[in-house]
Amino acid sequence: MSRGDDYTRVARLFSHTRRNFSNEGQCACAGSSMSKTLSAWLHITDKCNLRCDYCYLPHVHANMPVEIGYAAIQATVRSALIHHYPQIKLKYAGGEPLLNFSLITELHCYAQYLTKQHGLTLEGVVLSNATLLNSEMLAQLQALDLRLMISLDGLGIAHDQQRSYANGCGSVDKVIHGIELAMAHGLVPAISITVSGRNAAHLSEVVAWILKRDLPFSFNFYRENDLSSSFDDLKLEEDKIIAGMLAAYKVIEENLSKRSLLTSLVDRVNLAEPHLYSCNTGSAYLVFDHQGQISKCQMQMDKPVAVLPIKDPLALIRADQTGIQNLSVLEKEECCFCEWKDWCAGGCPLDAYRATGRYNVHSPNCVIYKALCPEVIRLEKLRTSQKLS
Ligand code: SF4
Ligand code: SF4
Repeated sequence: MSRGDDYTRVARLFSHTRRNFSNEGQCACAGSSMSKTLSAWLHITDKCNLRCDYCYLPHVHANMPVEIGYAAIQATVRSALIHHYPQIKLKYAGGEPLLNFSLITELHCYAQYLTKQHGLTLEGVVLSNATLLNSEMLAQLQALDLRLMISLDGLGIAHDQQRSYANGCGSVDKVIHGIELAMAHGLVPAISITVSGRNAAHLSEVVAWILKRDLPFSFNFYRENDLSSSFDDLKLEEDKIIAGMLAAYKVIEENLSKRSLLTSLVDRVNLAEPHLYSCNTGSAYLVFDHQGQISKCQMQMDKPVAVLPIKDPLALIRADQTGIQNLSVLEKEECCFCEWKDWCAGGCPLDAYRATGRYNVHSPNCVIYKALCPEVIRLEKLRTSQKLS
């Protein structure tokens, strides 16, 4: 029996715990245990005014038709009821979802009506580049109780070099204006920082800016895809990423905030509670593209598992054996006996597959995780002891 078989045999003993430990979070999906939430991404448009170098979408310039949006929400509610999820989380994504803003408001009104009818709890978030935000939109988002997640990868050139407009101009000034406008309206956005080899050396600057405004934020690592692979400088060189992240942590140490640091400082790692899966893909996660095709992950929309209309998309997602396989950390070689396995869960399964052609292996970012996790725990200890004193 090979070493891999041995790991797999041990892992199977634990595999019955999968559903109980399915997680929820951040891609938006860092793991947690006992998820009660069914998450659904709605790609309400493929259009975007930016051309980020790491984007995984081909941009065919099409909006989601309203009837597809209604069918996606109906199917999500049906799956939630069939599989006993009391809560639904809708993520309005694109492209740039603000380019199809009227559809966000229409669909979320409908989702509120339908979930109320069935006694489900609803939360919603808009994943935006913020360049098109205006006061009217912010008022509507607030009226609908929608949250905002905004991408900001640096200040000045550090952001612009990986998130520019289609004409090549930088977007950072508009993004910062959008963030400040949201704050002025009392809508506190969460900031998503995509960490790549290109912006790693400048992370401390953007973190200082964010901490000064007391905004929630998270670091997400760049994930190579077929459209981005020609940009060699985006790749996650271990030394460069670790140095950049540690410099950012130094700034955090000097400005410890009231928020816990355990779930946001390392991509895909949740140090707040033990879990077996690094994300909900394949268990509590639906991704609808603008044509109504349903995939397991937003980065695998080119491999749909089903298409609307369909009664229970979650059942098909769970049964699929051909696309991404989200294995338990106990099924991943190297991870099985790692001291961080309960918190890291082995990283993004797509990253592992892209690097090795296998799912039952540790993350290609393993060295980075092992360098950063102890630092995050140290920071959290400092933060909590400061709070107590
Ligand atoms: S740190 Fe590495 S070996 Fe440990 S669980 Fe994470 S990916 Fe696996
Ligand atoms: S497979 Fe990777 S990219 Fe997809 S949801 Fe999971 S962590 Fe995110």
